[in-house]
Amino acid sequence: MTAHRPLPDGHDGPAAGRFAPSPSGDLHLGNLRTALLAWLFARTTGRRFLLRVEDLDRVRPGAEDRQLADLRALGLDWDGPVSHQSQRRAGYDEAIGRLASAGLVYECFCTRREILQAPSAPHAPDGAYPGTCRDLTPAQRAERRAARPGPALRLRSEVAEYTVTDVLHGEYTGMVDDLVLRRGDGTPAYNLAVVVDDAAQGVDQVVRGDDLLSSAPRQAYLAATLGLTIPEYAHVPLVLGPQGKRLAKRDGAVTLADLAATASDAGAEPGAVASRALATIAVSLHLAEPGEAVTTETLRGRFSPSALPRGPWVYHPA
Ligand code: GLU
Repeated sequence: MTAHRPLPDGHDGPAAGRFAPSPSGDLHLGNLRTALLAWLFARTTGRRFLLRVEDLDRVRPGAEDRQLADLRALGLDWDGPVSHQSQRRAGYDEAIGRLASAGLVYECFCTRREILQAPSAPHAPDGAYPGTCRDLTPAQRAERRAARPGPALRLRSEVAEYTVTDVLHGEYTGMVDDLVLRRGDGTPAYNLAVVVDDAAQGVDQVVRGDDLLSSAPRQAYLAATLGLTIPEYAHVPLVLGPQGKRLAKRDGAVTLADLAATASDAGAEPGAVASRALATIAVSLHLAEPGEAVTTETLRGRFSPSALPRGPWVYHPA
């Protein structure tokens, strides 16, 4: 047993890792592999493991239940009830309120198109918000409010970049712009929600796909601005499909349900399909030999972050 870690920010349980799926469809092998890695990182460091459903947008009916069933079938477990971002709005509002009191929030009336067409600010990196609404006068703001209700709220960022430390990538510096905190339709933005939730839930270890590495600096900066502990990051390689692009539904049998439907022994119990998927993922992580049957407990005994393959895994659906 690993000793429990000290608690960040006065939480009364051990620190935690988490998996935070968006319930927009079934998890594919790449998502399941990331979930397994998040579980292994947490469970081999004495952390709790939490499951958080990021359901502020892109919700497909039934997807959450199937995602949870697939994670259980793989052999993953988690501590406490599953949390839902849609139930945590008060925390996001409170964080925005605190930033606003510090003068760090402004209303943005820009459409997506205006942002794309605006000349970028000098020295601003590509894709950064050009700052159009950052310094509007009260009169300009009143005029825009009348013309276009429902502004988004942006963070008045005081840096252009920020550096995070990642277990797999080392020091990583990335862009921070005036990111959106609340969208014009009132939905809290992902970058805010993830930062507020991780801190509120005692999450001090964030393991997720490396497509989110470039978001880590702005999230860490936001956490620091809110006075919250910045978690340890591990951005794990994505799984690619046969075309070398991120694995997707169009690549064929990529979810447990697909694999069950195409299994040569069709009618095999779903548990057998999940066990085979776990074995395939374990081989891709160099944690098992081809053909070897494994459980999550076996993998837990073998896991070591430093021995993880650093490149993407190319998956060829049968
Ligand atoms: N909900 C995000 C996703 O499914 C993950 C966010 C995170 O892990 O920080 O891509």
